[in-house]
Amino acid sequence: MTAQQTNPRSNPKLVRTCSIWRALEVLGDVPTLLILEAIWLGENRFDRIHSRTRLSKPLVTERLKKLNADGILERRLYCAKPPRYEQKLTPKGRALFPVTMMLLRWEKTWSSSGDTLGMRLIHNDCGAPIEPEPLCSHCQGIVRPQDIEWREGPGLSMMEPEYTRRRQHRNRQAIAENISLFTDSAELLGDRWAGLVMRAAYTGLHKFDAILEDSGMASNILADRLAWLVEHGFLKATLYQNSPDRFEYHTTPKSLDYLPILLILQHWGDQYYGSEKGPPVILHHTRCNSQLNIYAGCGNCKEELRLSNIGVERNQSGGQ
Ligand SMILES: [Zn+2]
Ligand SMILES: [Zn+2]
Repeated sequence: MTAQQTNPRSNPKLVRTCSIWRALEVLGDVPTLLILEAIWLGENRFDRIHSRTRLSKPLVTERLKKLNADGILERRLYCAKPPRYEQKLTPKGRALFPVTMMLLRWEKTWSSSGDTLGMRLIHNDCGAPIEPEPLCSHCQGIVRPQDIEWREGPGLSMMEPEYTRRRQHRNRQAIAENISLFTDSAELLGDRWAGLVMRAAYTGLHKFDAILEDSGMASNILADRLAWLVEHGFLKATLYQNSPDRFEYHTTPKSLDYLPILLILQHWGDQYYGSEKGPPVILHHTRCNSQLNIYAGCGNCKEELRLSNIGVERNQSGGQ
């Protein structure tokens, strides 16, 4: 839990605003994801969250405070004497549920860890096991990366990047040991910098300098994240110039399949952090020629998946 990083820029340049960026400011952090997973699995009290996540108590306290300040969680008194509180998801926190559905979808295809949760999720509306899909609310088709166009929206602006919490660490051990649902995707989602690099790649920025400019991160951090993303198959590096060697970075099938996670995050970010003028980026679904309004839907009946219409069946064999 160390390796705090500082941005060496003395004059930070302006970067493009985007709801993904804002959402990653809140969620792009491994301890935060661990805590949210614990709460999603029904652990609402401090001691239970602490023992499930195995994070240090000060770290749990700090992240819970942040999640309360960000309006994702709220404290409720459950015992008057002595006063004890439990953590509940707010409507804004519950609105993150579709993100977890997209994480599960991606894990199914790409995770190396298999089913460690030991439970089966059922869509109560249709009775089918949950197979989440990213769907277009206009045509109900599955949203595929090649059918999306990114357009500038009315709320597009530039902002000074304010990387306030210098707490990006790559605690893969902690993920491997503690997280049940999103073993592999949490590695990427839990790293805000890596998320910003992927945003650039998805939106057509492939060269080092262009990504640097877009994200406002320090060049050593960018170099580190590019190496990690290539090593883990999220980006493919192609040489486009010799001496000095320069590379372009492009998405892979694995990272294209990850895109719905960021799109749903963006949708959430637009809802809660959008400017009054409207969203900074508008997505267009070329298959139905409409503005894309994406949702996490049931692969069987196409209805929206909500926390309230999901049933859980514990598997006979194991799980926690
Ligand atoms: Zn559509
Ligand atoms: Zn269904």
